[in-house]
Amino acid sequence: MNLKDKIRVISDFPEKGIRFKDITTLLKDGEALHYTIDKIVEEIKDKEFDLIVGPESRGFIIGTPLAYAMKKGFIPVRKPGKLPAETVKLQYDLEYGSDALEIHKDAIKPGQKVMIIDDLLATGGTLRSTVKLVEQLGGEVVGVLCLIELMYLNGRETLKGYDVRSLIKYE
Ligand code: IMP
Repeated sequence: MNLKDKIRVISDFPEKGIRFKDITTLLKDGEALHYTIDKIVEEIKDKEFDLIVGPESRGFIIGTPLAYAMKKGFIPVRKPGKLPAETVKLQYDLEYGSDALEIHKDAIKPGQKVMIIDDLLATGGTLRSTVKLVEQLGGEVVGVLCLIELMYLNGRETLKGYDVRSLIKYE
């Protein structure tokens, strides 16, 4: 199956000049969604880890079925004010604007191995902040997996030193 065919590209969303990769067309296709999760399992099966961490909100959509399939726990990283218990917070830059992310302080025990998952790697700001949050808690990031990688934004550079993998690449 060619997963790229399942992704819809929307011009000028959310701002003029951005070609937004819309994964909702992939998600609503049962076969494609199942295939996607299986492919990710295949892609990271050489990795040893305890937990999957995914940033809001599409990181949840990909990360949770993956955690289920691999029998790992899932930890959400969220926008400020959403997590109920004590958190650590980090400010970061986006492809369009800036934002902040939080994680529960007790989500990861020092030394636990973590795989980070998101739908899309653009500038890498979101995933880098997620990496930093995990490391602040003493977690060890064994890899970063994203469904889509926008090669032309060079987000990989932002994540230098980490094992970054992706299933679908846009040149
Ligand atoms: P980054 O922080 O610049 O790497 O942006 C990545 C985040 O922005 C991801 O969490 C994506 O969900 C979102 N994002 C940026 N561009 C797109 C896009 O074209 N389609 C879908 N999500 C996007």
